[in-house]
Amino acid sequence: MKYLSWGEKLFFILKLPFRRQLEVYKKFGLYNRQKTREVSLFYTSPCLNDCVFCKRKEGRWPGTGPIMRQLDENRRLGIEKLNLVANEPLLHPDILAILDYARACGFKRFGALTSGELFASWPLTKKLIARGLETVSIPLYGLRREHDAAVRSPGSFKKVIAGLKNLEREKTAEVYIHSMVLRQNLGRFRDFLNFLDAGIKYPLAIVPLRPKDTALAYKDLMPSYTEIVKVLKGSGRNFIDYPLCILRELSPSVFRGISSCRTQKERIYYHTDKKHISKSTFFYSKLVPNPPLPACRACSVLSFCPGVLPEYARHYGASEFKPL
Ligand code: SF4
Repeated sequence: MKYLSWGEKLFFILKLPFRRQLEVYKKFGLYNRQKTREVSLFYTSPCLNDCVFCKRKEGRWPGTGPIMRQLDENRRLGIEKLNLVANEPLLHPDILAILDYARACGFKRFGALTSGELFASWPLTKKLIARGLETVSIPLYGLRREHDAAVRSPGSFKKVIAGLKNLEREKTAEVYIHSMVLRQNLGRFRDFLNFLDAGIKYPLAIVPLRPKDTALAYKDLMPSYTEIVKVLKGSGRNFIDYPLCILRELSPSVFRGISSCRTQKERIYYHTDKKHISKSTFFYSKLVPNPPLPACRACSVLSFCPGVLPEYARHYGASEFKPL
C-alpha cells in the first residue's frame, strides 16, 4: 500500500463530502461535546508564502461552480459552521461570493486557517467579519527575521502583526496563534515568547512539526525533543500534541492541569476547553492518531498521551520517551 504522509491523510479526509466528514469525526469521538457541528471546505490553491516545512502548491483556484456544488450539500444537513482550509483560503478571488453562497446554503459562522496576512487590509477584514468569519487560526514562527525566513516571504511578519491589530479592531470573536519549534527558530524562541507576552493578547499553541510535502528534510527542520527541552524547559507554554513525558519538562503546570482532569474526555479536550487552540485545528491533529511506541505500552498516561509522530521516531528513535 502506498505510504501516505500525515498531510496526505488529513487532506483526504478534509476533501470528503460534509456528511462523510461528520462520520469520520464521529468515528474519532470528535465534535460530540459541542452544541453545533463543524465541517471543512478544503481546496488546493496558490499560496502567499513558500514555507520551509511545506511546498508552495502553485495550482489554480477551483472555480466557484464545484465549490458551490459542494456547499449545496448543506441545504439538507443544516450544519452551522464551516471552516475554510487551503494553502491560503481567503486569497480565493471569489472568497466573498463563496461566503455569501455558503450562507445561502445554511452556514452561519465561519472559521479559517490562514496566514493572517490578508487581514492587513482593514476593508477586507471588515467584509469577512461582516459575513460571519468568527474563528481565525494564524501561524507565527518567531520574530520578524525568523518568521519571514520560515515562510520565505519578506514582509510577512509585518503584515501578520498588522492583521492581528485589524482583527482586534473588528472585535473578532476567536483569534488563535499557533507556532512550531524548528531548527530555524529555536535559538530565538524565548525572545519570540517575550514579544508575544508584551503585546499580543491572543492564545499561543505550540504544535509539533507534522510532515507534509516539505521543502527541507525532516531532520533539517525538526530539532530533537532533547534540544527543545534544553532551550524551553519550564517555559510553561501550551505545547499541544507533544508527548506528555516531554510536556512535563517543558510546561509542568500544563502537565499538572491535564493530569488533574477528572475524566478522560476532559484530559483529551483540555486545550480546546481552555481555548488555547481552535477546535478545528486541534481536531485536524486528532484525525491521524500516532501509533504507540513499544516503550509507551507500560506508561500510566498512555490513554491520553498524544504520543510520538512516526516520522519523529524514525529519525530520532525512542530513547527520549520515558514511561510515567
Ligand atoms: S512514554 Fe510514551 S505514552 Fe508515556 S508520556 Fe511518553 S510518549 Fe506518552
